[in-house]
Amino acid sequence: MTHDRDSIDLAGIGIGPFNLSLAALADGLPDLTTRFFERKRAFSWHPGLAFDDSTMQTSYLKDLVTPVQPTNRWGFLNFLVEHGRFYDFMAARFDTVSRREFTEYLAWVAGSLPSCRFATAIRDVDYDGQAFRLRTDRGETVTARAIAVGTGPVPHVPEGAPLGPACFHGVEYLERMPQIAGRRVAVIGGGQTGAEIMLDLLGKVVGPAALSWISRRSAFSALQEGGLIDQIYTPAYGKAHQRLPAEVQSRLVEDQKLSSDGLTPSTADALYRLIYQRRYLDCHNGIALRPGQTVKELRGTGGAVQLILQDAIGALDVIHADVVILATGFRTVLPDCLEPLRDRLETEKGGALQLGAAYRVVWDGPDDAAIYGLNHGRRSYGIGDPQLSLTAWRSATILEDVTGQRLFPALHGPQGGLVDWTRSASGREMRISA
Ligand SMILES: Cc1cc2nc3c(=O)[nH]c(=O)nc-3n(C[C@H](O)[C@H](O)[C@H](O)COP(=O)(O)OP(=O)(O)OC[C@H]3O[C@@H](n4cnc5c(N)ncnc54)[C@H](O)[C@@H]3O)c2cc1C
Repeated sequence: MTHDRDSIDLAGIGIGPFNLSLAALADGLPDLTTRFFERKRAFSWHPGLAFDDSTMQTSYLKDLVTPVQPTNRWGFLNFLVEHGRFYDFMAARFDTVSRREFTEYLAWVAGSLPSCRFATAIRDVDYDGQAFRLRTDRGETVTARAIAVGTGPVPHVPEGAPLGPACFHGVEYLERMPQIAGRRVAVIGGGQTGAEIMLDLLGKVVGPAALSWISRRSAFSALQEGGLIDQIYTPAYGKAHQRLPAEVQSRLVEDQKLSSDGLTPSTADALYRLIYQRRYLDCHNGIALRPGQTVKELRGTGGAVQLILQDAIGALDVIHADVVILATGFRTVLPDCLEPLRDRLETEKGGALQLGAAYRVVWDGPDDAAIYGLNHGRRSYGIGDPQLSLTAWRSATILEDVTGQRLFPALHGPQGGLVDWTRSASGREMRISA
C-alpha cells in the first residue's frame, strides 16, 4: 500500500476491544502496515468495575474475530486451546463467560500482536495534505495514510458534581476502594453498573450505615434479551438502520435502549435477594431504593454531599451522603488529540463524530485520507455499535475499505436474518420470514 518507508497505512489511536479487533483482523494481511497506540502501560478493560463475579453481557463467540473469520488465531476458543483450558472451560457449562476471563483473553491478544504499542499516548493528530501526522507523548511523529479513532467514551458526570473522594464516577470504584463501613452511601444510576456496585456494597462484611440507590427511570428495568430482541444486533439490522433518516435513527435507538442498558436478570435477582436478606433477616433499615427520582443538584458540604432529588410530580427531597458513586454512564465525545482537525470534522449534537459509509468520519479531507470512527455510531449504525456484537464486522468493513480489497467472504455472503428489516425500515409491516 504505502511506499514511504517511514509511513504506515493505518494508525489506531487507543487499544480498547474495538481497535484491538481491528488489529487482530489486520494481523497478517500482507499488503497493509498498521500500528496501534495505547496510553496505558498494559491492556486493561474497565479495571475499576472488574468485579470478581461479573459476567459478559455478550457471548464469548462474539469475540474480536470469530463472527467474520472463525479460523483466525485470535479468537476466544483459540485462547482457551493455547492456554490448555478448552475441556475444563466446556465442562464448566458457563451460561456466560466472566469478564475477568474475557479480559485475560483480550490482554493475551494485545500482548501478542506486534502492531500493538503500549505506554504511548497520541497527543495530537494533523493532516499535512499528504498524510496524517500523529505526535506521541514520547516526542515521536508517526505518519499514516488513514487513522482509526478508538479512544472510547468518557464518563458522564452530572453538571456541578463536586468530584473528589466523596463523589466520583463508578468507573473508578474498585480503584478508589472507598471507605464505606458505617457511612452514608448513595449510588446514582439504575443501570447494570449501578446494580453491580450495589451488589458489591451490600456484600461487604461491614457495609454502609445507609445506602440509597437512585434512578431516574420510573422503575428498575431488566435487560431485554432473547433471539427476537437480538435481531437488532445483526449486520442485517445495522444495514437497514443506516438507511433511515437521522431523526428516526435517534428515536429507534431510544426505543431500543433496554436491550443494552437494562439489568441482566442474574444480577437483578442476586441483588434483590441480598436486599431482602439485609432488610428482613439482618434488620438493616438503612437501604433505600429510589427509582423515579432525578438528581437535580449535588452540592459538596464539608466532606459530605447534599443531593437534591425530584420525583415525577416535581416534589423535591434532600438527602446527605458521605460517599456518592455516579453510575451515570458514558458520553461519546471528540477526543482531545483530534483538536487540530476539529474545524474540518463533522460532529453530532453531544460531540460524537459523524459517520458515513464504512465507518468513515465525515470531514473535508480527501477521499484517500480516511478517519474511521469506532464507537461513534450509536445513532447512525444502531444500538449495537457501542458493544461487542458487531465489532468484528465493523473491523472487517474498515479493513476492506482501507485496502480496497475483498478480504472477508462473510461480509459478502447471505446475511438475511429472520426479520425483514427492509420492509419495516420503510415504515410498512414487519414480517418474520417463514
Ligand atoms: C463495565 C463495562 C462492562 C461492559 N461489558 C460489556 C459486555 O459484556 N459486552 C459488550 O458487548 N460490551 C460491554 N461493554 C461496552 C463496550 O464493549 C466497552 O465499553 C468497550 O470497552 C468499548 O471499547 P472501546 O475500544 O471503544 O473503548 P475503551 O475500552 O474505552 O478503550 C479505549 C482506549 O483508548 C485509550 N486512549 C484514549 N485516548 C488515547 C490517546 N490519545 N492515545 C492513546 N490511547 C488512548 C484509553 O486509554 C483506552 O484504553 C461494557 C462496558 C463497561 C463500562
